[in-house]
Amino acid sequence: MTFSIHGLPVARGIAIGRAVLVGSSRVEVAHYFIKPEQIPAEIDRVRVGRNAVVDELQRLQHAMPKDAPPELTALLDVHLMLLEDETLTTGVKHWITDRLYNAEWALTTQLEIIARQFDEMEDEYLRERKADLEQVVDRILRYMKGVVSPIALPPPVRRKGGSHQMSPDESLTVPLVLIAHDLSPADMLQFKQSVFAGFVTDVGGKTSHTAIVARSLDIPAVVGARSASQLVRQDDWVIIDGDAGVVVVDPSPIILAEYGFKQRQGELERERLTRLRHTPAITLDGHKVELLANIEMPEDAVSAVTAGAVGVGLFRSEFLFMGRKGSLPNEEEQYQAYRSAVEGMQGMPVTIRTVDIGADKPLDKGHKEDTHLNPALGLRAIRWSLADPAMFLTQLRAILRAAVHGQVNLLVPMLAHGSEIRQTLALLDFARAELDNRGVVYGPLKLGAMIEIPAAALTLPLFLKYFDFLSVGTNDLIQYTLAIDRADESVAHLYDPLHPAVLRLLADTIRACQAQGKGVSVCGEMAGDITMTRLLLGLGLRSFSMHPAQILAVKQEVLRADTARLGPWAQRVLESEDPVQAMAEPLTARPDGTPCRVDSGLGPLSKY
Ligand code: PEP
Ligand code: MG
Repeated sequence: MTFSIHGLPVARGIAIGRAVLVGSSRVEVAHYFIKPEQIPAEIDRVRVGRNAVVDELQRLQHAMPKDAPPELTALLDVHLMLLEDETLTTGVKHWITDRLYNAEWALTTQLEIIARQFDEMEDEYLRERKADLEQVVDRILRYMKGVVSPIALPPPVRRKGGSHQMSPDESLTVPLVLIAHDLSPADMLQFKQSVFAGFVTDVGGKTSHTAIVARSLDIPAVVGARSASQLVRQDDWVIIDGDAGVVVVDPSPIILAEYGFKQRQGELERERLTRLRHTPAITLDGHKVELLANIEMPEDAVSAVTAGAVGVGLFRSEFLFMGRKGSLPNEEEQYQAYRSAVEGMQGMPVTIRTVDIGADKPLDKGHKEDTHLNPALGLRAIRWSLADPAMFLTQLRAILRAAVHGQVNLLVPMLAHGSEIRQTLALLDFARAELDNRGVVYGPLKLGAMIEIPAAALTLPLFLKYFDFLSVGTNDLIQYTLAIDRADESVAHLYDPLHPAVLRLLADTIRACQAQGKGVSVCGEMAGDITMTRLLLGLGLRSFSMHPAQILAVKQEVLRADTARLGPWAQRVLESEDPVQAMAEPLTARPDGTPCRVDSGLGPLSKY
């Protein structure tokens, strides 16, 4: 039966594919695709893990004292029986052989399927056996991971869900879409090289870091879809409408055809946009606009160059620090990563942001900042760096060294206090001195500060005194101005880039930088949102940093824009108590009365 689930649209386009559910296990599990030649080894890994658990349970059974409660013996019997069950072993083999899932992923996928069958059972006793199944699978996973603790039997974890009929084997050409309760930004990175055609998560806001990484993958995604991971079943056909934030499950042929059409239209539009790749981003009235890329890993430089970016405006270096089980990248490792990004950009500037760990970007799942009561207000970004000077100096030295290979800008996140600025600059001097002492060469850096805390936007002279340029992190600026957790879908409706207070802080920052001849850019999600391009241009912004996938669409907006008309219009939006309404008002003629040129270099005439 067709039904739809509504969430928040985070990455545009339509994806149609079979659902892959991840994340039901209590053990952290890696998800990746294996090569066909690895199939026997992966199957063997599961077999070895399973046999180890069988051995352990049998040993326990034999060592059981005569007077042990009969329930305990029965429980061990049940666990052994589940381990022998064909549905488990055959299913796991299917996911490894036919879908090329790695062993752990295959195991948790099959667990999900059988667990739902248990949920459907009439008999309460049998229904309760789901918890036993989850325990034995966790046990196998722990063996495979080498983390085995003495057998403990936690209370059952209850999940809702329906029964599921496994589909017949399908070819590997069937597109897959990922459905999960939650994915950390590090999980998303793991999926970067994968073949998923789209993503859906139950939780998350539009500018949560998971959503940001999804957007950088340039595939349709919906977050905050509440109970999607409970309602969708493994292998269901699913349509993800990343423009509308809708997930259609088990679509009828008519719906499929309709979305198939939309999908093709979207592909055609993208193809059309690629023609703009080499066109300089210049407005109709001749203003040059800098379109830069946001990247997470050095290898993203390739897509930045392909999209026609004129540099990297934000390299989120924290992604080099994540998912490493707490171990941090050393100076050499970081230097190589930064150098590779700089070289990948072929002489164009690269802005490396110092590590912004914390809030919804933990180093690892369960790491201490992850469990902090109020992580967005806690030890995050520059606060974290200043709290661990040895770590910070390592990063600063690596960035300084990378600056030998091209133009590097250093960007510092989440500054609010003069003392933080001064400490940061002192540590930078110290890092230079350390390199001097070691006789290691390093290059010049332009220094930039992120404006993402209202306190910073309200004390701009302080920032302009110390920094060469400012970069507005609108994702956090909105979060902290409006007191809205950007990762919390339950308050997503209040997360408003057009709130007059946000616009005021943004406009003041742009104006203050221009008045002093300093560079200013926006690197939050607002910069890549084509519905905001006119407004930002009208407020005077000439440097935008966004995911490579958004560059061409924003360029099209720039080519169609006439800033002479946008300026007065943006002022009206800024002064309005209802900016959304003010934005909808048509633009009047240019202030000097001359007609607006309408050559966009591409298709449809300018809206402006
Ligand atoms: C921002 O806050 O707008 C920003 C670009 O930084 P991040 O999204 O990584 O917090
Ligand atoms: Mg930020």
